[in-house]
Amino acid sequence: MDSIEIADNLRRVKDRIANAAIAAGRKPGDVTLVAVSKTKPVEAVLAAIQAGQTVFGENRVQEAEDKFPPLRAAHRFDLHLIGGLQSNKARDAVRLADVIETLDRPKLADAIAAAMAKENRHPKLLIEVNTGSEPQKSGVSRDDADGFIADCKGRFGDLLAGLMCVPPHDEDPRPHFDWLANRAAKHGLITLSMGMSADFEIAIAAGATWVRVGSAIFGSR
Ligand SMILES: *Cc1c(COP(=O)(O)O)cnc(C)c1O
Repeated sequence: MDSIEIADNLRRVKDRIANAAIAAGRKPGDVTLVAVSKTKPVEAVLAAIQAGQTVFGENRVQEAEDKFPPLRAAHRFDLHLIGGLQSNKARDAVRLADVIETLDRPKLADAIAAAMAKENRHPKLLIEVNTGSEPQKSGVSRDDADGFIADCKGRFGDLLAGLMCVPPHDEDPRPHFDWLANRAAKHGLITLSMGMSADFEIAIAAGATWVRVGSAIFGSR
């Protein structure tokens, strides 16, 4: 995928986001595109930056560490970590990320809080919910979500920005998005990270404020 294709894809995705927002009676500016660059080379990230993209998502701390710090010197962007996070990577994550979207258990909350104190750096946090109860996926269970959200609000205050989910691949995502939107509203949380290349328009209809789109911008992996 060359830089012209990436710029074209970005424009198309942004148009689709704007149209989906308008169709849902929302403002296009209320939905932020997180461009997911996992497995893609730094040249692809740079092409997106040059096309005006300012928010990126990566799954793995190590890969993000390899690709993004060198870009910081010359460019302004936000980096979101969107993959399941091991507690022993919390310090690297806090040092690197502007947003950690995958807070999902008390032990990780402990590690992130300790890392924030040590690094004096305070990325925003989202709680990931495993809405489909899939054993291989990260995310707090639906049943434990209310308690965990309340604990994290108490502990992190306004740094806790909202909720994130990745619905099961083979199911209608709508009920998952609706459940997450409902839960965020219940807790007074504003940010809803949901929707990927295959379903971001559905997510926007359900209230997504951040959509995480990879392959529709950077090509298949
Ligand atoms: C890879 C990934 C995405 C982007 O997926 P695409 O289908 O390529 O748009 C979004 N969110 C998470 C958590 C991912 O791991």
